[in-house]
Amino acid sequence: MEPPVSETVAARVQAVLTRIHHAAGKVGRNPQAIRLVAATKTVSAERIREGIAAGLTNVGENRLQEALSKVEALRDTGVCWHFIGQLQRRKVKSVVGVFDLLHSVDSLDLVKEIDRRACDARLCQEVLLEVNIGHEPTKAGFLIDDLFAVAPDLAKWPHLRVKGLMAIPPRTAEAEQARPYFQQLRVTAERLAREVPSLAMDELSMGMSDDYEIAIEEGATLVRIGTAIFGERDE
Ligand SMILES: *Cc1c(COP(=O)(O)O)cnc(C)c1O
Repeated sequence: MEPPVSETVAARVQAVLTRIHHAAGKVGRNPQAIRLVAATKTVSAERIREGIAAGLTNVGENRLQEALSKVEALRDTGVCWHFIGQLQRRKVKSVVGVFDLLHSVDSLDLVKEIDRRACDARLCQEVLLEVNIGHEPTKAGFLIDDLFAVAPDLAKWPHLRVKGLMAIPPRTAEAEQARPYFQQLRVTAERLAREVPSLAMDELSMGMSDDYEIAIEEGATLVRIGTAIFGERDE
């Protein structure tokens, strides 16, 4: 007989946290410097609550409509919310101030709109810049050259604070094949920090269920994990 869902989620959260610890230890990193962001698209508020009871403190949502009702339902938990899906300009108004960190900012247009809405709301919105690290035509994110071109502009928006970079590397057959992409994201962040010292490059959001240990070995500070916690999604 299968164990109840709640036990499964709790056990998986603990298993992932343990593996994060080991991966950090392997390369001499402080495990406290790595945050587990549970990727919860299609997962109900009740199951997320079970995950929170088991130790989750950060939750990432892709779809705004789905996210807003969960934010409401889980308000009492005090969990931190991350927006990790593609962000449309006309949705910015609804995400600013609701999410602690927006991972997927990929245009100067979006930067301006976030600054404008955050100004209206009298707050400072923290964001990551998404990088299209595999130069994939179908994927969102700045190409690296474009990122360097706009970077000097990014520090001058008073209601938006860039914290680092995010990427979703191309699908690979083996997790190990993602390593060069993670390395490239880290090197890009280091180069940006040198060339544009006014931009903070403290966070690297990279690594998912299949490859997060490798991402941690390469410097991830935020890993976004869905399947390894909540099981396969049927979508
Ligand atoms: C769904 C999703 C994840 C998690 O993917 P898993 O393979 O289920 O761990 C991470 N990041 C983003 C942007 C996602 O949409």
